[in-house]
Amino acid sequence: MDEDSIRRALARIVDPAGGQDLVSAGYVGAVTLTDGAAQVILEVPGARGAAMMPLAKAAETAIAALEGISSARVILTAAAEPGGAAPAQAAKGPPPDLRGGRGAQAGAQPGSQPGPQAERRPPQPGHPIPGVDRVLAVGSGKGGVGKSTVAANLAVALAGEGRRVGLLDADVYGPSQPRMMGVRDKPTSPDGQRINPLQAHGVAMISMGLLVAEETATVWRGPMLMKALQQFLFSVVWGELDVLIIDLPPGTGDVQLTLAQRTTVTGAVIVSTPQDVALLDARKAVDMFERTEVPLVGLIENMASFVCPKCGEVTPLFGHGGAQEMGARLGVPFLGEIPIDLDTRLSGDAGMPVVLAHPDSAPAKCFREIARSLIAAGQA
Ligand code: ADP
Repeated sequence: MDEDSIRRALARIVDPAGGQDLVSAGYVGAVTLTDGAAQVILEVPGARGAAMMPLAKAAETAIAALEGISSARVILTAAAEPGGAAPAQAAKGPPPDLRGGRGAQAGAQPGSQPGPQAERRPPQPGHPIPGVDRVLAVGSGKGGVGKSTVAANLAVALAGEGRRVGLLDADVYGPSQPRMMGVRDKPTSPDGQRINPLQAHGVAMISMGLLVAEETATVWRGPMLMKALQQFLFSVVWGELDVLIIDLPPGTGDVQLTLAQRTTVTGAVIVSTPQDVALLDARKAVDMFERTEVPLVGLIENMASFVCPKCGEVTPLFGHGGAQEMGARLGVPFLGEIPIDLDTRLSGDAGMPVVLAHPDSAPAKCFREIARSLIAAGQA
């Protein structure tokens, strides 16, 4: 078994759209084979990304069936369209120094320091928020990857390190920070114009969900939503903050773009699960921040592995190392990976982030490591 045999297997898979096989169509990038573990990068045009997912799966199955192959992994990447945004890599310097190997314990492997590009880039124009030193946006290519969980835990971990932290939940369609931070009170106003944030676990926080009934926010679209968010951004009396964490709405639509442009976002963290880092969602989020010139601080892989609560055995449920690889490919630092963990969900639901509820757990340690690396890099 060698790399050519893998290419020959890929040459038997035909893309019904163009009638060509994967190799002839020029989609097959790097093919590697190490001790029976095969890895293939498929590079497809941006517009075909979603349509190619079944073919990528078929390719994985075909390679896995070859004799002498112990595992097969196909990573689908989509190039930016001509005339569209430049591929993220082109705009960046060399890939960052990704330190260390994978964490053997609990899958928690805090990675490199946040990125060099954060220092290289000038902050983009926008209005600073009075009293707020840095604004760190937490985004994701799609919903349900744990973006809010990461935002809440980073906020309390940073507060635990003595930083003055604010948390703004801008996820209008599914505001989850009131539940995760355990607050329910209606915010008060000092003057009928501005809004006082609530205090939770040492963090000043505010959420659209505390101000607007869910039914109201869900019918807002486009300009109306933008106006509400912008007002929201600048009406909160934050006081003096070292860092304001913004839990962005999921996805990469206009709302996220505009929000990033309206204020000086000093850095962005992208959260993704191993499945979508191997695919396209994380890349879309990277492109979005690239387009708005928001410095990318790094990628966090969430729900990376499962730690058996009984025996402590670590199982990489969806493969391993996707975010680290994706980070290297896109020139975005890898900040760490958080295992999938029942306590993380339960404590999130109970209003006490896992960093506080189970400070000795693997996810808590990983969140603290990431928080410390953000501070060390001057991002928080
Ligand atoms: P998003 O903000 O991306 O939509 P959430 O943070 O709301 O995602 O997370 C979605 C669900 O997954 C929540 O129920 C949350 O408690 C759970 N969750 C997030 N991260 C983890 C994790 N590492 N382990 C277990 N459950 C998690």
